[in-house]
Amino acid sequence: MSPLRPFRRMVHSDDAGVRRLLRYWALGLMLYLVSLSMLWFEAWAGVAQEQAAMLLTIASLAGAGLAYTAIRLSHALGISAGLLNTSQCLYALSCITAAYALLGPMRGVTLSILVVVLVFGGFSSTPRQIRVMSSYAIVVLGLTILWKSRTDPVRYPPLEEGVHFILAATMLGAVAYLAELLSELRKKLKGRTQELANALVRIEAMATRDELTQLFNRRYMMEALERERACRERSGQSMCIAIIDMDHFKRLNDSLGHAAGDAALRFFADRALSTIRPSDTLARWGGEEFLLLLPETGLAEAQAVLERMRRLVGESAWFEADASLRVTFSCGLAEWPGGMTAESAIDAADKAMYSAKREGRNRIAVARAS
Ligand code: GH3
Ligand code: MG
Ligand code: MG
Repeated sequence: MSPLRPFRRMVHSDDAGVRRLLRYWALGLMLYLVSLSMLWFEAWAGVAQEQAAMLLTIASLAGAGLAYTAIRLSHALGISAGLLNTSQCLYALSCITAAYALLGPMRGVTLSILVVVLVFGGFSSTPRQIRVMSSYAIVVLGLTILWKSRTDPVRYPPLEEGVHFILAATMLGAVAYLAELLSELRKKLKGRTQELANALVRIEAMATRDELTQLFNRRYMMEALERERACRERSGQSMCIAIIDMDHFKRLNDSLGHAAGDAALRFFADRALSTIRPSDTLARWGGEEFLLLLPETGLAEAQAVLERMRRLVGESAWFEADASLRVTFSCGLAEWPGGMTAESAIDAADKAMYSAKREGRNRIAVARAS
């Protein structure tokens, strides 16, 4: 077993957001350990106070432990990733500044660690949070430098401290500026990604739906037929196909206008959808013709569904200007047995539909088994 495995498990989570926070946490812990080892080295060499080193070690590790628990429980406690990230960063900046005050001769290293903390904190922060963090780091470091150069000028000479401060403040400011730019870019990228996702949903709808009725289109139905055929090969269940054609639609268009014809098609789609089951697929096959696919359905059951649809459509008012007007359809229903191609089943339903027309329209004709 790899010696890193327990550590990897510690920073693993199935949630991508938590995983990212845990990785930042691990990096923060590494920075703490680097600063603390230097401090303990100095304590061992007699340059730093052992008591102070112990205090900072306890504070840093307790903070890291608290942050780890907070990240793990963030969902349960409802703590946002932004708050966790900012507070963890502010705490790390405080501990590292404290290390600066304690380290004496090796303190210069902590300045670059401050910058690294800000870079990582900035990765998942808003511009405002980045400004808060960088201002905090500059103010706290400035006060620490002022305090140390006053109280311990031998180890913290004022001139050297002044140079340290200018250097650190410039680096922190520059990093904060870059992090803000990065944050803006990330926001833009997020917006674009969302726009693309929305466009994809629209394109998918356009590719599979008929614009007028919002029913599935012919292309989608062809794929659905193939899917159902493959599925039925396994299950052996019986299926039915129905071709539905509006009656005297040309006449309706001619007398009421094309817009009324469109409204009638939408009306039909709406009513028809309300009678079929979620497993059935209804598509606009072309013009005023529709195809209904009824999987796992026998002829008698399919006939009952279509009869219900015929009555509902034929008995409802659909034209606002004249509530007495009705639209009807003629339907050809065919069983689609295993081994038969979709084209043959559609052909059989089509022929049955024409016989329904010949027999007087507004009816359902069942194709004879071939
Ligand atoms: P039948 O009862 O024999 O089916 O007669 P019909 O008039 O419905 O049949 P025909 O095939 O002669 O005419 C179909 C009409 O449907 C002609 C066409 O203008 C109309 N139509 C097709 N698509 C649309 C559409 O999207 N909107 C409108 N308003 N009319 C359409
Ligand atoms: Mg037609
Ligand atoms: Mg027609």
